[in-house]
Amino acid sequence: MSFENPAISLSARVAELNKRFQNTDTVEMLREITSDPAFGKLALISSFGADSVVLLDMVAKIDRALPIVFIDTEMLFHQTLSYQRKLAKDLGLQDVRRILPSREAVLKRDSENLLHRYDTDACCTLRKTEPLARALTEFDGWISGRKRYQGGARMSMDLFELDAEQRIKINPLAHWSREDLASYIAAQNLPKHPLVAKGYKSIGCAPCTTPSGTIGNERAGRWRGQTKTECGIHFGNNAPARPVIPRAVIVTDEGFETEDWAAGFHSFASLATLPEQEKAALAIDLKGDFVAKDLLPWIGQIDLIRVSFPVFSDGRGFSLACQLRLLGFVGRLRAKGHIVADQYAMARRSGFNEVEIDQALARRQPEPVWQARADWQIRDYQNLLRQSA
Ligand code: SF4
Repeated sequence: MSFENPAISLSARVAELNKRFQNTDTVEMLREITSDPAFGKLALISSFGADSVVLLDMVAKIDRALPIVFIDTEMLFHQTLSYQRKLAKDLGLQDVRRILPSREAVLKRDSENLLHRYDTDACCTLRKTEPLARALTEFDGWISGRKRYQGGARMSMDLFELDAEQRIKINPLAHWSREDLASYIAAQNLPKHPLVAKGYKSIGCAPCTTPSGTIGNERAGRWRGQTKTECGIHFGNNAPARPVIPRAVIVTDEGFETEDWAAGFHSFASLATLPEQEKAALAIDLKGDFVAKDLLPWIGQIDLIRVSFPVFSDGRGFSLACQLRLLGFVGRLRAKGHIVADQYAMARRSGFNEVEIDQALARRQPEPVWQARADWQIRDYQNLLRQSA
């Protein structure tokens, strides 16, 4: 099996993996997937919670340098933070990445740290799902410690899944029971989270976690009294806190915005026959190979031109934008399609005002990733050199 073969769809590959590893020992499976280049760059996502030590121990025995992503919501129990440091040291984990929520976003949306009291979904989005989405942008797949016996949507999960961004997600412990975990921890003599002894079987943020009780669902202590059962990290499992992203996202220097152009887009070919009333607010779609001078008769009448980028490597749209500006087009110019954050500065320098991306890319490359490129003018070295000459 190879991930390189474009003829095989991702979901077919996932089905193939589920079949291939259905009877494989967990450690053996982890060894294979972490050493097979076809899986790309993987990370283990760990909460350093009640039974996280099992996967962490397995990974440490296979590859201590495997990146471990630890989302610190800044609302965790102090015991979790000290347990995280102890485990990293004891197991010799070399690449634990402590991911914090965006400082700017916290100041804007939860400056008093009270959001969890009245909107847990918004709080999880701010403190868990957005930081994780940022952290995952550099990975091709991720490993999670969820188990089927934990109930809810987890009961039907497979060993391999696709997340909402079409990234492979591996659940090596999906079929493990509570007893299996306890036996492993005892057999390997692993340290337990200090709160386990106090009745916590599932451990998340301090304000939203209570002891689980002795019977029933071990996640019952999470968000007690609410219908919420997941923080939203596990997209695709009916997670309620998944960030709501509009179908089309317009990226500007100020960040993500929603579409504000309600009048519709026309083709260049339809301009000649357009009724007068539709010319009051005029937007057109152009392909990157359009001949700019053909637009000269219309150039003063068009408010918005959207140039499509059909594939990532097709740079003709940048040239077209430059030519349209040189011909005197002063309206809005928008790049749409296969544009990634690294190309934002190039788009702006070419004369585009904004970039239109779809939901999948907005999730893979969230707003902070694009905003890191919003200072494109101070990196416009050629222009700066011209000015200083
Ligand atoms: S679990 Fe509670 S405190 Fe933690 S991010 Fe979610 S709502 Fe906020």
